[in-house]
Parts: sequence; C-alpha cells; structure tokens
Amino acid sequence: MKVVIVGAGIIGASIARVLSQYEGLEVHLLEKCPDVGMGVSKANTAIIHPGHEDDPNKYPLRAKLCVRGNRLWHQWAKELEIPVKWPGELMVAIEEEDLKTAEHYLELAQKNGVPGARIIYREELSKIEPNVNPDAAGALWAPTAGQIAPWEAVIALVENAVENGVRLHTETEVRGIRIEKGEVKGVETNNGFIEAEIVINAAGLYADEISKMAGVDGFSIHPRRGEYYVFDEDAGPKVTRIVHQTPTPITKGVYVITTVEGNLMIGPTAQDLPEEAKEDTSTTKEGLDFVWEWAQKLVRKLPPKSKVIKTFSGLRPEPPDGRWIIEAYDDPWGFVNVAGIRSPGLTSAPAIAVYVVNELLNGRLDIKLTKKAKWNPYRKSMPRFATLPKEKRQQFIKTNPAYGNVVCMCKEVTEGEIVEAINRMKRIGIKTITLDGVKFRTLSMFGTCQGSYCRIRIARIVARETGIPLWKVSLKGKGTEYGIGDVKVLLRNSKEEKKNAE
Ligand SMILES: Cc1cc2nc3c(=O)[nH]c(=O)nc-3n(C[C@H](O)[C@H](O)[C@H](O)COP(=O)(O)OP(=O)(O)OC[C@H]3O[C@@H](n4cnc5c(N)ncnc54)[C@H](O)[C@@H]3O)c2cc1C
Repeated sequence: MKVVIVGAGIIGASIARVLSQYEGLEVHLLEKCPDVGMGVSKANTAIIHPGHEDDPNKYPLRAKLCVRGNRLWHQWAKELEIPVKWPGELMVAIEEEDLKTAEHYLELAQKNGVPGARIIYREELSKIEPNVNPDAAGALWAPTAGQIAPWEAVIALVENAVENGVRLHTETEVRGIRIEKGEVKGVETNNGFIEAEIVINAAGLYADEISKMAGVDGFSIHPRRGEYYVFDEDAGPKVTRIVHQTPTPITKGVYVITTVEGNLMIGPTAQDLPEEAKEDTSTTKEGLDFVWEWAQKLVRKLPPKSKVIKTFSGLRPEPPDGRWIIEAYDDPWGFVNVAGIRSPGLTSAPAIAVYVVNELLNGRLDIKLTKKAKWNPYRKSMPRFATLPKEKRQQFIKTNPAYGNVVCMCKEVTEGEIVEAINRMKRIGIKTITLDGVKFRTLSMFGTCQGSYCRIRIARIVARETGIPLWKVSLKGKGTEYGIGDVKVLLRNSKEEKKNAE
C-alpha cells in the first residue's frame, strides 16, 4: 500500500518514522523545500512542554498528546541521538495575585497527569533558579519539561525513516490531489504524479490549502508570529531552568531559556498576521521591545543588548479555535489531515504520529499493520569535533585530516564535519545541498559572527563536494544563490572558478 506524507516538518517526519516500522507500506515523504525541517519546525522556543497549559475539556487532543509526547521524547531522543535536556520549567508568579493563575495551571497539570508539578514560593524559587527575579512571589514548578534541538530532531527522524525504507522527495511541491470515485489516487506535484491510496497532510502553515485540494474545505490556517533574541554563547547570566511568567490577557508568556546549544534566548511574542503573510518571518521593533520588557521582569539581570547575536521570528500555524485538525475522512477515502499543529506541536509530535497511525490509519488500511522484523530504531548523530576529548580529536584527524582543518572559528566546526553533513544530505536523497542544510547539521555559522567569517569557506567546500560553481551555492535553494548580480559575475570570472572549470 502506498502512502504519501505532505510536508517534512516535525509532524510529517514523525509520522514517516512510525510508518517505517511496518511491513507492506511504500511511504513517500514529500517536501517542497530543498531540505527537511525548514518550515515552522526550525524556528520556535524548542521546549518539550510538561503538559499543563491545555484545558482537557477545551483541547482534549492537545492536553492528552502533549503529556504523551513529552514521555516519548525521552526514548526517541535516546534512539536518535538528538540533543535534549530536561531542566524543568518554572511558570513564575511575579506578583502575589499571579499565584492564583499558577494554581489554576496546577489543577490542569493534575487533570492531564503531569508528574511532579507543584507550587513553590519565593525562597525555594530562588534556590531552584538563582537568576530569577528575587521579588517574584513563587512559581508553578514542572520538573518534566525539556528542551530539544528542533531542526536536528527533524533531520534525525528523516535519516532514520529513510534508513528504514521511507523515500524522501525534496523540492517536490504538492499542487493537486487526484480523487476518483470518492477515493484518493495520489498527488500531482511539480515533479509529476505520485500514486498513493493514503495521503497524509502535514503541510504546516499550508495545510489548509492541501486540504482544499482534497475537497475538505472549511478551515483556514493563519500565521501567528513569535519574535526572539539570541545572545552570544558567553553572555550571561544564564538560566538553568525554563523560565516564563504566568499567562496574562496580554501575553501567554515570554520565556527566558538557555538553549541546548548553550545560548541564552528570550521570546516569543504572539502577533496574529493576515492569512497571506505565511512567509513573513521579519522581526519588528515593537515585537522585540515587548520581548525585552517582559524578559526583564522575569530575571535578575539580562546580558547587555550588545551581546545579542541574532533576532529571528517563527510563524505558528494557527487553526480556527486553536483546535488541531487530526482527522481521517471517508469522503474522500484515504485523505488524512494533521493540520493546524500549533504549540505544543513539537512536544506532541511523537504522540501525534503514533495516534495517527494506530487510531486513524490502523483498520483503514487494506493490510494489517505488522512490525518489520528488521526495523532499526537507532540513528547516529553527527560527530561534534568541538566537544570531543583531545585523544578522540587526534584519532579523528589521524583517520581523516579534514578534521584538523577548523572552518567555522566561533563553533570550532571542521572541514571533516562539513563534508560529513554534505554526505548525509546526499544519502537521504537531498538534491540541492544548501548552506542552511550544512548550518543546521554542523552548527557552523551559528556562533558569534553568524557566518560572516566562514560562509564563503563553507560555500567553497559545498561547490567542491557537489561539483557546482561557487556562485550557484545557495543559502536555501533557488533565488538565494551565493552569487547574484555583480557578485555572480565576479565569482564566475574568478581564478578559482576558472581553475574548477579546467
Ligand atoms: C514562535 C513559535 C514557538 C513555538 N514554541 C514551541 C515550543 O516551545 N514547544 C512546542 O511543542 N511547540 C512549539 N511551537 C509549535 C511547533 O513549532 C509546531 O507545532 C510544529 O513545528 C509544527 O510542525 P509541522 O510539521 O506541522 O509544520 P512545518 O514544520 O511547517 O512542516 C510543514 C512542512 O510542509 C511543507 N509544505 C508546505 N506546503 C507543501 C506542499 N504544497 N508540498 C510539499 N510540502 C509542503 C513545508 O515546507 C514544511 O516543511 C512553536 C511554534 C512557533 C512558531
């Protein structure tokens, strides 16, 4: 039986991994971008929420699958070697009266089965998180909260799914769904028709458009923007726990966190944008000022603004009423929506995938789901030269001298790692090797200089390893090539290009 999944974000990738466990399925994962995980899943707060923010009466699926997802990530992160940490979360009551809000969320925690959640007061709060605002009245402490590298999670899931037989098609945009006699027959794409009896729509911000193609109308997804500041790795004071305040009518909460990569990060805002702004990931002065103002209330001290190395924004795919649309249909038979997966979608992804396969697909498929005898749950992470002990580094250099050539100075990323990242992209079937693809796999261009020193050096390695001219190396595919206009002419005429052409 043939299954098409539309969208290789955290949701599509998780579903692909779960489906890859079973016999008799030919699974195609389709992604319009040149790489996986480049949509909503790459730009968010990256928290594995404990599960106390959703009222189970109002949002039953969100409440149930968040707690399950949190649990599953322990196993999945281990199997796939995804960077993760479990620092716990403090929902801080800044004023005495905010404690009532914290108590309301404690009740939700108890209803949803969040382990270990309890209210703590000023003294204990300062002990658990010394950098928290010393005047804060207390907090809801949820020890099961975690943090993950979201882009690496998607990459790891796809690498593992492909290893287990899933076929990845990047730069493949779904433009139509063929339906005959009320049954799904496949998808029309820019690369031709792909046959399928089951089409799973996990297209993030564009899931409403895909759903319309199947004739399942009646909802739209609008973008809700969240803006952030990221500080340099050496900027402090940092926080150990995930810190945010009790939600108010104005804000659901600005977070202060130390990311799994070790940078202090503050944000996000929550600004509703019109439906047509699904690509508008710009940042605004008002948004960033709001983040700064609220983050300042949460902690004793923020680093100076001169230590900010990056601002960015992400777009939440907001469904109507905030309800996830996870449904299989009889008309057309074979179409499944996993749409409007706003927060806590990253947390819930493993549980959503298991739910879709076990509860929506099982029984609907013409075959009985039988586990493969040889399914491999494991995936090895990229080597991180900067974190290796001296002896290990020497070993790496001995077997491959490219590990002795540091290309990204800020994050100490070597040529060996860059080549390994390129080879991994090729192995899963990525056709266009982009600078972003290298960045998210190696953490090069992630440091203080944000790539201003190493980008050209990395582009040269990409050109060499893929046999394309330097000016054609792109940040994220068509239209973002390294050389455009005058730069293209310069690069084309450079000695280096001429030498390459010989
Ligand atoms: C600011 C912000 C903060 C957040 N914080 C958290 C958090 O801390 N914890 C948490 O649990 N969740 C958080 N979330 C939510 C979480 O990021 C999302 O729920 C999740 O990433 C959604 O994943 P997705 O796979 O549905 O979407 P995406 O990652 O966008 O994946 C969809 C994919 O479909 C592709 N696609 C679209 N149209 C087509 C087409 N026609 N053909 C082929 N491919 C197509 C896209 O290119 C994209 O790659 C946050 C979100 C934002 C924006």
